[in-house]
Amino acid sequence: MRVLMAYGLTAGVLVVSGITAVLNARSQQETAREITHAQDIALALERIENALSDAETGQRGFLLTGQEDYLDPYRAARGETSIAVISRPSVSELIQSARRLLPSGSRQERLLDRVDRLARDKLSELEQTIRLYRSGRMREATEIVVNGDGKRMMDDIRAALVEMRAEDKFMLRQRQREHHDGAERALMSAGVVSLLSLVTLAILMNVSNASSRSLRRSEQRFRSLVEAASAVVWVTDADGRMTADKPSWRAFTGQGREAAAMFGWMDALHPETRQAIQRALDARSREGGALRWPERWRVRRHDGQYREMIVRCVAMPAAEAGTEEWIGACTDVTELANAESRMRCFAESDVIGIVFGDMSGGIRYANDEYLRTIGYERADLDSGALRWDAITPPEWLAVDRRHVEQARRTGTCPRYEKEYVRKNGSRVPVLVGFGMIGEEDEVVAFVLDLSDQKEAEATLRRREEEFRTLADNISQLAWMADPRGGIFWYNRRWFDYTAVSQRTMLESGWQAMLHPDHALRVEDKLRACLQNGMPWEDSFPLRGADGRYRWFLSRALPIHDERGNVVRWFGTHTDVTAQRELEEELTRVNRRKDEFIATLAHELRNPLAPVQAGLELLKLPGNATPAAAKVHAIMTRQIAHLVRLIDDLLDVSRITSGKLELRRETISVGAVLDTALEECRLKLEAAGHEVEVNLPQQPLHIDADLVRMAQVLSNLLDNAAKYTPDGGRIVVGVDSRGDEVLISVTDNGIGIDADLLPRIFDLFTQLESARPRRRGGIGIGLSITRQIVALHGGVLSADSAGPGKGSTFSIRLPQAVPMSAGAKADPLSSRPGTSLACRRILILDDNADAADTLGALLAMSGHEIHVAHTGAEAIDMAQRLHPDIAFLDIGLPDMSGHEVARALRAIASLNGLVLVALTGWGADSDVRQSREAGFDFHLTKPVTTAAIKAILPNLKTPLD
Ligand code: ADP
Repeated sequence: MRVLMAYGLTAGVLVVSGITAVLNARSQQETAREITHAQDIALALERIENALSDAETGQRGFLLTGQEDYLDPYRAARGETSIAVISRPSVSELIQSARRLLPSGSRQERLLDRVDRLARDKLSELEQTIRLYRSGRMREATEIVVNGDGKRMMDDIRAALVEMRAEDKFMLRQRQREHHDGAERALMSAGVVSLLSLVTLAILMNVSNASSRSLRRSEQRFRSLVEAASAVVWVTDADGRMTADKPSWRAFTGQGREAAAMFGWMDALHPETRQAIQRALDARSREGGALRWPERWRVRRHDGQYREMIVRCVAMPAAEAGTEEWIGACTDVTELANAESRMRCFAESDVIGIVFGDMSGGIRYANDEYLRTIGYERADLDSGALRWDAITPPEWLAVDRRHVEQARRTGTCPRYEKEYVRKNGSRVPVLVGFGMIGEEDEVVAFVLDLSDQKEAEATLRRREEEFRTLADNISQLAWMADPRGGIFWYNRRWFDYTAVSQRTMLESGWQAMLHPDHALRVEDKLRACLQNGMPWEDSFPLRGADGRYRWFLSRALPIHDERGNVVRWFGTHTDVTAQRELEEELTRVNRRKDEFIATLAHELRNPLAPVQAGLELLKLPGNATPAAAKVHAIMTRQIAHLVRLIDDLLDVSRITSGKLELRRETISVGAVLDTALEECRLKLEAAGHEVEVNLPQQPLHIDADLVRMAQVLSNLLDNAAKYTPDGGRIVVGVDSRGDEVLISVTDNGIGIDADLLPRIFDLFTQLESARPRRRGGIGIGLSITRQIVALHGGVLSADSAGPGKGSTFSIRLPQAVPMSAGAKADPLSSRPGTSLACRRILILDDNADAADTLGALLAMSGHEIHVAHTGAEAIDMAQRLHPDIAFLDIGLPDMSGHEVARALRAIASLNGLVLVALTGWGADSDVRQSREAGFDFHLTKPVTTAAIKAILPNLKTPLD
């Protein structure tokens, strides 16, 4: 029974406590719902306020910049949909949704009606200012903003909203209190019946879980709403302590509940903002009164980025007096601020002019660059008198109109060029591009000043014109080609010369005028130059209008751009026909001159031969009187001089015609020097010069023609003797350096001016300074000397410290290795007969004087002399007399000396006959010819006794 009673009691208690617990749980659930509801109302109110304040901020942005984008929040607030604002509800929608949360007939509902009315007024105030601005009445629009009507409306709205929030808060507190009491009641019941309380607790826990889930959900909703509303709300007490948790603040900053509490929320501020707030707090504690919050904050977002915020703070009045708490709303305007600063940067750039205006010609805003371009001041713009149509010249108005029409239809128009008239009356060319930015006639235009570009273009055109005029009037044919050689322009002279039309020329190409014999070569070379970008130069004949070819020197230069690429070729053809003819004529004349010198020298030699031989005869001791001996000596010297001059002339013509042949052998420099010194001995002695010869210890050798090299040195010694005052000093040095032999002739004579040094090797050059000392000579010695040295592979140079300071002539020659002894012997000198003592001699010369004088000379040595004057006579006499030696002239009236020689060589009985050619021609080819004809010796006229002595060593001369 007791058990039953206990069970019954327990069951009763259970039922009672169960009922109590369920009732308590219901009450708790209800309270949690109420809290969520109150928070939803608070959120809805915040969204209304944010929407309106965003619209107002946007309106101000628009009034400042005229940029339509700023009006997006305003349009959203009005419920206008566009792509940009599609996701935001309008203010009236927000009010509607708030209304749904409020109990009908409540005080809050009445307050919301007021908010509704005020919001409508606010929006129409915004609309009015925007319309005024768009119609160009900016000043009136800004006045409305400045006189504070808008602000007052906003303050009224905020006040109504604050009241609503206070009401909401009051109710919330009540709910919280009820919630608290309910919990206490539940605990008490649990203490009375612990077992059952477990059940109750379980139920309660269940309910509590449901309640906190619901709270979490509500918070999540709240957070997302805050994020969507882009406003951050916080509440502090009168001193700035964050006393109540504000999820939107935490959601934005990422701060924890604890961290944000009290003054912790200030950690999320940028140090500058923090300092500003600190200053405000300090000022308040110093001076009392309400806190003066700064209006722009920089708040660190949960991702660490500082965001620019506009902050509106509302003081909640305390029941008695003063402020109970502050409610602040921060709106993130970072993007707006960035856009604003980007816009400012862009508008302030001095690269392009920017104008905001309308299609009918009004200008609302213009940057400095635009004003600079059109030459007006900002004051002109501010006065409202500046219109873009008024500064457009009449002829451009139609163009403007056309583009405006297009922009009206399509929203934009292609950029185009036009002109403005500057304030000073001058015109400025510009490039304009514009687009519509509003629904009305509003446009933004970009204006680029083209003055510099137009001027550059004009200069370029002028230069091009000048160039073409110049190119058309030069005497050359000129052309221009693209980088691949395609000619796109010829000058007028080209068409004058070819008489081919421009069209034909561009079609068939200039190569049609090129002489076919040269076509391949010229085109190959031209192609190579085009490929490697090298300047082109060539010479070829081009056909003229008369069908005749003339020679042209053609050149083309590549023209590069700044990166070094060939952009075009410019070429000219210069008519060089006359020049070529002149050159050919000169070459002809020069050849004739050389031939003349050679013939003259040869012809001069012929008469000299008997004169020289005669002189030898006249010097016989028995015939000579002292006076005659003196005259004889003079004549001998002069004849020798004459012979030397003629030899030099012959050498010149040989060298210029390339006929000088060298008989090179390895000889010692000492031997060359001996020969040369011997030749000049008399001259050196006569002038009383002291000669010093410095030879190296070891003999040096060169591979040279002894006679020619001796001629070189004797020329230098001869000059040294000539151009040094009597009693001078001449030093001959021989040395080696590396593979070279150096020979120098230094005198202390008249010297040579440095400026004239390079010229002294030119043919027929004689320096003025040397005139007083010139003894004979025609200015060819050094020219021959240098060329002979060059033929030996050497170099001759001159040096002098200046007039009066002497001269040095230096020869550099390749050094040679000496050959073994006895390797070389002259074929002629090895012939029998060279040792003949007293012989029968036949002399053949058509010049009777020459034959007789030679005969007389030879007879002096006891030889038996027979003279013939024709070839046939000589052959006949030779057959009859069997002479030992025959001296045969080459140039004869009936047959040549060569033919006579061949005939004599063909006669077997004349075997052993020594044949000596006697001729004025001394070229190597002449010697070769003599040898081929069978001669043993070749003597050039006038024959000296020295030359005869080489054949007949025991020849007696008048001096012996
Ligand atoms: P030439 O002696 O017949 O006039 P060259 O050709 O030998 O002709 O010399 C050319 C010129 O060089 C001479 O006329 C003279 O003015 C100058 N010249 C040559 N050798 C000397 C020298 N040793 N000192 C000064 N002047 C010299």
